[in-house]
Amino acid sequence: MTAKSEHDHSFEIAGFISLDTDLKLKLKYLVQALLDSAEAERWQRMEDIVQMVSEACENSWKHPLYKEYAALLIDYLLSYFLEVRSSHESTFIQFLNLLNHLPITIESPLYKPLVQAMTENAVDPQQNMTIFDRLQALYLLTEIKDFANARLMYQEMEPMVPKENLKLWVVLQISRIRLLKHEDNLPEVLRLHLQSIMEAWTTEGCECSINFILRWILSINWQKQLIIKKTLLMRIYERICETKNLICAMVIYELFSLEDRLVPYPEKISYQKRLIKFPGSILNVQQLHNLYFFAGYYFCGVLSHFKDSIQNYQYSNYFLHKSWDRLIHMSQFLRLHLNADAYYHAMPYLDARIQDLSNQVSLQNNTYVESLQANFDKIEELYQKVGELSLTDSLTGLRNRRFFYDNLQQMIVLAARHRVPICFCIVDIDFFKLVNDNFGHLAGDYVLKELSQMLSQEFRKSDVIVRYGGEEFLIILFDIDTDSCLNMMEIFRQKVERHTFEFRSKLMAITISIGITGESQIDHQCGDLSQFVSQADKALYIAKSKGRNQVVLFDPDLNNPNLHEPT
Ligand code: GH3
Ligand code: MG
Ligand code: MG
Repeated sequence: MTAKSEHDHSFEIAGFISLDTDLKLKLKYLVQALLDSAEAERWQRMEDIVQMVSEACENSWKHPLYKEYAALLIDYLLSYFLEVRSSHESTFIQFLNLLNHLPITIESPLYKPLVQAMTENAVDPQQNMTIFDRLQALYLLTEIKDFANARLMYQEMEPMVPKENLKLWVVLQISRIRLLKHEDNLPEVLRLHLQSIMEAWTTEGCECSINFILRWILSINWQKQLIIKKTLLMRIYERICETKNLICAMVIYELFSLEDRLVPYPEKISYQKRLIKFPGSILNVQQLHNLYFFAGYYFCGVLSHFKDSIQNYQYSNYFLHKSWDRLIHMSQFLRLHLNADAYYHAMPYLDARIQDLSNQVSLQNNTYVESLQANFDKIEELYQKVGELSLTDSLTGLRNRRFFYDNLQQMIVLAARHRVPICFCIVDIDFFKLVNDNFGHLAGDYVLKELSQMLSQEFRKSDVIVRYGGEEFLIILFDIDTDSCLNMMEIFRQKVERHTFEFRSKLMAITISIGITGESQIDHQCGDLSQFVSQADKALYIAKSKGRNQVVLFDPDLNNPNLHEPT
């Protein structure tokens, strides 16, 4: 191990490790000796490491120190392989891709590439395929944790798989590591990890040995030390993130799957986005389901990504169905390749997987519906906000109350500065409730629209007409004295009285009452809108109490409205 990378992160890992410095150095020295050794002495160098670690861990991988030793070993090995790695990709990696999808049955789209890989440079292609199928069954036995049958099958298979046939040998060893872990045979587990890494290196190159290091990382139950797992994964990620191969996919997927506290959502979504751009054959259907499901869930919290959310849920749904298919193929495969006893053992596992998938389906449906609901709620809220932000009234098209308070103040100050006289009028429909009661709400709406139109036609563009309440309108007239205003309003009142309000062939007699206040010269300080409104309102109140259908001017001197007798 001569080359020392400037990207070397060993110190980070070492920081998590409580072993004393002498031990760390000794282990580092042993790894270096292994990597520098000629093939003939390699076995002995591996044994040195196996012996040191096994002794320290009392031959059990359950020993608390095992994770620390493993982390250090992996770290030292990674430093080397990441450094000497070339960008050349071995075709062996493409074969390893396939192992992420086991079992590959004849129905699988990967069956063809598998046959191709098995027959390539093979002495006896047919024999290779037969052995591979048996190895898949062995692999599944270890996956469903039927170790008794797995052990028997392993013993049967071992003599049939020579080390020279690396593809088959690798599949055998992956199952064997699981068996050995189950039997808590730490020296053998270590031997096998180191052997796979070194074997892959000599025959297929660094990429493959990194793949086996990665498998080692993933086989360890880090529990409270997940931060070590993340650090190791990050080391690989930083160095190989430019590629789009299996190792990169595995690393990113593992980072994506780490606990939320170690990998927050925005980081996860960035991994998710990278992963879905990988070639389709790398990730398996369950992984793809998880990726899209997460994105569906993530984006449903972001309103502008509502469409993305739905699309991701659709994809995750698709891959969930594919997972069902896979489970069915797996069950068929097991029935075909296992004896009755072994298949019987597999039943509870298959049941659990079916249960698991059913849970995922219902989770998927619930989350999907919740996301739709949440999004519709948000859209409604937004709609309401937009409505509130609007300055026009939707029924009549007049300015609304919001416009009045947001903009009028400024106009009044401006008018005062230029000594422009202003009048405030409130127009209120008489007995409007009766219109609704006798003719219906739609008729009421019609009257409001019709009156609004009459108001718009009657007054100048520079005057402001506001729908102030249900059937109350505010009219602010600029550059007008109160007498003229009073006359204009009286004329308008009469027009309304004479106007034909007809809705669905029914005639309605409509009259209005009007309260007016005018300030010939509004001073700078007194721009208080609510004061004008309340004065006009007082005048209106008098108009109503005097019998309606009339115009009343507020008397500012007496602060007491006088009745204006219509002429
Ligand atoms: P008054 O002569 O004292 O003004 O009697 P009124 O019935 O006109 O007065 P009140 O303020 O008690 O009633 C106003 C009614 O206007 C009550 C409400 O149902 C109705 N209203 C408010 N907004 C709308 C609307 O947008 N469309 C319709 N059709 N009716 C409305
Ligand atoms: Mg009214
Ligand atoms: Mg009213």
